[in-house]
Amino acid sequence: MGVMSTMAAPTIAPGATPTVTPTALACPRCATVAVAGEPFCAHCGARVPFARPGRAPAAPSATRALVWALLLVAVNAIVGGGALAALWLVGDAAQLSQAGLALELVRLVVVGGLALVTVRLGLRGLRETADGRLARRGWAILALVISSSIALLTAVSVLATALLALR
Ligand SMILES: [Zn+2]
Repeated sequence: MGVMSTMAAPTIAPGATPTVTPTALACPRCATVAVAGEPFCAHCGARVPFARPGRAPAAPSATRALVWALLLVAVNAIVGGGALAALWLVGDAAQLSQAGLALELVRLVVVGGLALVTVRLGLRGLRETADGRLARRGWAILALVISSSIALLTAVSVLATALLALR
């Protein structure tokens, strides 16, 4: 890449934390390190969105991922509690396994759908925070851990209920 090698401008190292050097942020177009507090790149004139002192701005997808993960935890608890209450109301043992299976399928759709959205947001959050210019990578990781755990538990629960019902 001849174009890349001619760029003598200093670039930010991958994984560098903007909180340590808050003003040394690279231009998104040409990767020149922006001047402190300058909204435009001195080299190419492109707008430098994060060339200001202070904390690195939060990655939007990482933030959304954790919000969805907490929503997922709440919905999972509500659906699980509702399922228990419904099974308690179904006194007939013969209907119990079928009712359980129906409830598990509802749970699979609702909780599984939410978990899918959360995982996608979490992965996007990981990509957004990969170069260290955006904060809250931990939020994206936490959202991925929460959503994949709940998805796994839901899958196991649905499978177990299905095996019991179809036995
Ligand atoms: Zn530039």
